[in-house]
Amino acid sequence: MSSTMPVAPARPKPQAYLRVGYACNGRCTFCCAQGGWSRPMRKLEELKQEIDKMVCEMDLESISISGGEPTIHPDILEVIRYCKQNAFRNIHLNSNGREFKTREIVGRYVEAGMNSVMIGIHGPNRELQEGIHRVKGSFDQMVTGVKNIAAAGLFHRFFTVICKANMDHLPEIVRFCNDTFHGFHSMIFCYPVIKELEGFDKDSILIPYSQVQPRIQAAIEKGIELGVRVQAQLVPPCLLGEYHYLATEIRRPDFFASEPTHTKLTSFIEEDRLLLPTCRSCEAKHFCPRIQYDYVRYFADLPADIFRPLRDLDYRRVSMDTVSERNIPL
Ligand code: SF4
Repeated sequence: MSSTMPVAPARPKPQAYLRVGYACNGRCTFCCAQGGWSRPMRKLEELKQEIDKMVCEMDLESISISGGEPTIHPDILEVIRYCKQNAFRNIHLNSNGREFKTREIVGRYVEAGMNSVMIGIHGPNRELQEGIHRVKGSFDQMVTGVKNIAAAGLFHRFFTVICKANMDHLPEIVRFCNDTFHGFHSMIFCYPVIKELEGFDKDSILIPYSQVQPRIQAAIEKGIELGVRVQAQLVPPCLLGEYHYLATEIRRPDFFASEPTHTKLTSFIEEDRLLLPTCRSCEAKHFCPRIQYDYVRYFADLPADIFRPLRDLDYRRVSMDTVSERNIPL
């Protein structure tokens, strides 16, 4: 191999992922909690045991705490404190941001040990955001929460699930965040995990890749125009074309998945995903999130011509443009 050829970046260290329960103060149309919003949260002791187990089994320094909505767990500050006591250096929350009503509240989380937040934003205005999140008043609460998070100087970024309701508004979401918020790191646009949509009206949520492709590229280009870092998740990198280096999976770590019934080391590249014959020659096949079998079952048809094997991956831009260098939880 020539010494000038770009080398694939090293995989980041595995990270921990802790789901504190499925309860939520929202009702998002595509929610992976599978409608379990009113189920009780997991008990503090059970969560502590799980953290102990993860720490014993592997040298971990980053943890993502998720739900449901983790901020409505009655012991969430104690959970964060316990992570800090167990030497987690990066403690991250996936949240809708609504509970961060004041700077004092954010301050309590910071004091407990939280140092990073990912906030779900699914529409660029009140009507669309509340149409998807399905709670009146939640748009203003989210905006206030994000501003309080930013005022505390916390690392934060945004996460958008691409669905039928917002698919024609992705660049607007980028513009809205750029115009409304300051100091955020990046925005991630994610394709839904279809197996988590059982019981939901898939027809009102899912769009085919052929429609995702131009829209996600438009969002990335809006980001480039505005100087906002836009990334894609669960979207095969070949659909991003020249922006393939903005797929989060290119440096996404393995993680200790936490579920009520098991804790195991796993990968975001799931076994139940399809690699097409055309993928064999693709340089991205080792990190590509691949095509969900449920996608093929649902849409019946795969337009093979849009999956074009990638060559000469631009790893230098990956190193510069992804956040994993800092081992920030995803
Ligand atoms: S060609 Fe196949 S392996 Fe390559 S990015 Fe596309 S779907 Fe993934």
